[in-house]
Amino acid sequence: MKIDLQGVSKKYGELWALQDLTLEVEDSRCLALIGPSGGGKSTTLRLLAGLERPSSGSLSVNGKLLPTDETGLREYRKTIGVVFQAYNLFPHLDALTNIALPLEVVHGESPNDARLRATALLERFQLQEHARKKPAELSGGQNQRVAIARALAPSPEFLLFDEPTSALDPEMTAEVLDVIESLIQDGKRIIIVTHQMGFAKRAAETIALIADGKVEELGKAEKLFSSPSSKLTERFLAKALNY
Ligand code: ADP
Ligand code: MG
Repeated sequence: MKIDLQGVSKKYGELWALQDLTLEVEDSRCLALIGPSGGGKSTTLRLLAGLERPSSGSLSVNGKLLPTDETGLREYRKTIGVVFQAYNLFPHLDALTNIALPLEVVHGESPNDARLRATALLERFQLQEHARKKPAELSGGQNQRVAIARALAPSPEFLLFDEPTSALDPEMTAEVLDVIESLIQDGKRIIIVTHQMGFAKRAAETIALIADGKVEELGKAEKLFSSPSSKLTERFLAKALNY
């Protein structure tokens, strides 16, 4: 996918979360956003998700400018899938209904079609035996796989992930990262905020290091990991790869 952010700024109260951020990515299957905490990764992702509007600047994805009006943004949001660290599943609904209900309510599918699609996705992610369980009855890794299935259900143009494994232990982290890698292999385009440097190195072809509300460095994964051009990137990677 092609991403073009020009002069994007985002202000919260008195604080500039992003300042004149420029990010141009020509064609990427998987773009990873990395960098120190508070640098602006989540803000960038929320803007790309159409969940918020920039204070100034423009965003375009695959050659299309993101809408700035509420109606346009609502339509735009239907075309993408977003997965957060905290799953954001409905606690009172079982796994199957968590996937099926948005297909009915947001995307206008019939109850039967929605259920069939949800069942197929649960099978794909080896969750069929958990279809009737609510989030509290599932492990973190299982909940995150349900959240990924829900994001994937309406066949979005691309998927956005914000630290999808940060709340998980190492075993569940691996199980969720495997699912994300399989999506990339199937040709899904994704943008992921991650602290998993091993994953970023392996699965992302393009990496953007975001710090202080700007893109500090952008490059192909091999290049950025083997010979970063910025001191800040070098220091960040030295620390991140040590853990
Ligand atoms: P990252 O994801 O890289 O850790 P964020 O994009 O979450 O960084 O945050 C960038 C800066 O913006 C931080 O200083 C953060 O405290 C601030 N920020 C993010 N979201 C909000 C918000 N909704 N209200 C106020 N400040 C925010
Ligand atoms: Mg964040």
